[in-house]
Amino acid sequence: MADPTPTQKSSGAPKGGVFSDLFAPIAGFGVTFATMFRKVATVQYPEEKRPAQPRFHGRHQLNRHPDGLEKCVGCELCAWACPADAILVEGASNNDQTGERYSPGERYGRVYQINYLRCIFCGLCIEACPTRALTMTNEYELADHSRAGLIFTKDQLLAPLQAGMVQPPHPMADGMEERDYFLGKVSQATPAQQAWVDEHGVDDPAAAGAPAGPHRIAKREDGIRHGQGVDR
Ligand code: SF4
Ligand code: SF4
Repeated sequence: MADPTPTQKSSGAPKGGVFSDLFAPIAGFGVTFATMFRKVATVQYPEEKRPAQPRFHGRHQLNRHPDGLEKCVGCELCAWACPADAILVEGASNNDQTGERYSPGERYGRVYQINYLRCIFCGLCIEACPTRALTMTNEYELADHSRAGLIFTKDQLLAPLQAGMVQPPHPMADGMEERDYFLGKVSQATPAQQAWVDEHGVDDPAAAGAPAGPHRIAKREDGIRHGQGVDR
């Protein structure tokens, strides 16, 4: 058997020769040079915002029926499903006699809060919701300077009014029952609903969801203003 070469003796493995040794330091920068010609991954946030993936779990939204009535029935299932105890719901009864109708059914969510200091964006609440009232948007900019500012209230969470909707409270669509709303039989507010709102409706859409007087919505006076200052 031939004797090992001097190189094999010193390192235990053969070396590539003089050219390999010459270019070894330069080859170490190969990844760096290759990266220089690739598409830049850095995003100049917040000037540039990349859209999130379609199923990204961001800020919640309380949805409406096509005539503007709220889908939330105040059942509190979302609050019970939440592992972080981040949701507070207080239901109340709709009342056609006093003009307090916010949802098609018997009950509506009078107070609704989500505490984003606690929320872990797991999505269990939206899975628990029986009416699809609660969903999650792609909005992820939820930083604030105060703890109270991260307790989102119903007026912040409610979906904006779309074309064909009128601001609750107002009666249900003519001749429709609660189930008809969920069967998709209501496509927009009727002229009768619009006329009712014109006569009795609220002036301040931001007040929607607060307890109502006979026809006009009033701000809460119990010091909780949809949970402001409440850190559960
Ligand atoms: S996403 Fe999860 S943690 Fe956040 S409110 Fe819903 S259930 Fe609670
Ligand atoms: S959002 Fe859904 S689960 Fe939560 S109280 Fe309203 S209807 Fe019930």
